Amino acid sequence: MHEKPKLTIAIDGPSGSGKSSVSKEVARHFGLAYLDTGAMYRAATWYVLERGIDLADAEAISQAVVEMPLVFGTNIKEEEILIGSTDVREQIRSERVSAAVSAVASVPAVREHLIGLQRWAIGHAVNGIVAEGRDITTVVAPDADARILLTASEEVRMARRGLENTEKSGSVGDLTQQISERDAKDLKVNNFMQAAAGVELIDSSELDFNATVSAVINAVNAQVKAKRGG
Ligand code: C5P
Repeated sequence: MHEKPKLTIAIDGPSGSGKSSVSKEVARHFGLAYLDTGAMYRAATWYVLERGIDLADAEAISQAVVEMPLVFGTNIKEEEILIGSTDVREQIRSERVSAAVSAVASVPAVREHLIGLQRWAIGHAVNGIVAEGRDITTVVAPDADARILLTASEEVRMARRGLENTEKSGSVGDLTQQISERDAKDLKVNNFMQAAAGVELIDSSELDFNATVSAVINAVNAQVKAKRGG
């Protein structure tokens, strides 16, 4: 019997671009696993904060993250992220973690360690995987079968995030500022606002969720066809 080739889909984008929900739906469509790399940086940050490590101490952060007993799953049906036996799914979405994550994610040894785990997960996904983050198309999996940068105008991104999070963070104004600051810090590490060569830009500013998912699926099919020679 002819075996279906494994499919690796890389999706990057800024906060509020909708990449997590879109990536999950794309994974569901193609019957693939799903890797949320942001959740891994968030888990590392929670661990660093729990240990009371100074966010300016790159050495201590690196050591802690390399030793951290991180357990993560790639099943689309249920998010799985633990440190040892502690389920940190809720904690990693807290304001405290969001405010500190860029500092932890900018430590080179942290990135090296987590990128190693991400590549392992991508390599071991049986049917293939949708991996999303800030550097998947460029650093983690530049040889993916399909590479997409999902953006939206700043206004649209803030509005989407505002809808999700206003309860947690107080005013939309505070939230807008926090997200802009986080994007600005993250941009010093990776340029996820402009598409690198061979990466297809999809701007979802004028698209609703279903239209964005369709645009990504079409882009994946076209890229795979081009790559595999029809
Ligand atoms: O995607 P999410 O907003 O959950 O990502 C949280 C943080 O993790 C980002 O703000 C960034 O600092 C970091 N991150 C990263 N590289 C990735 C994914 C996330 O540096 N591939």
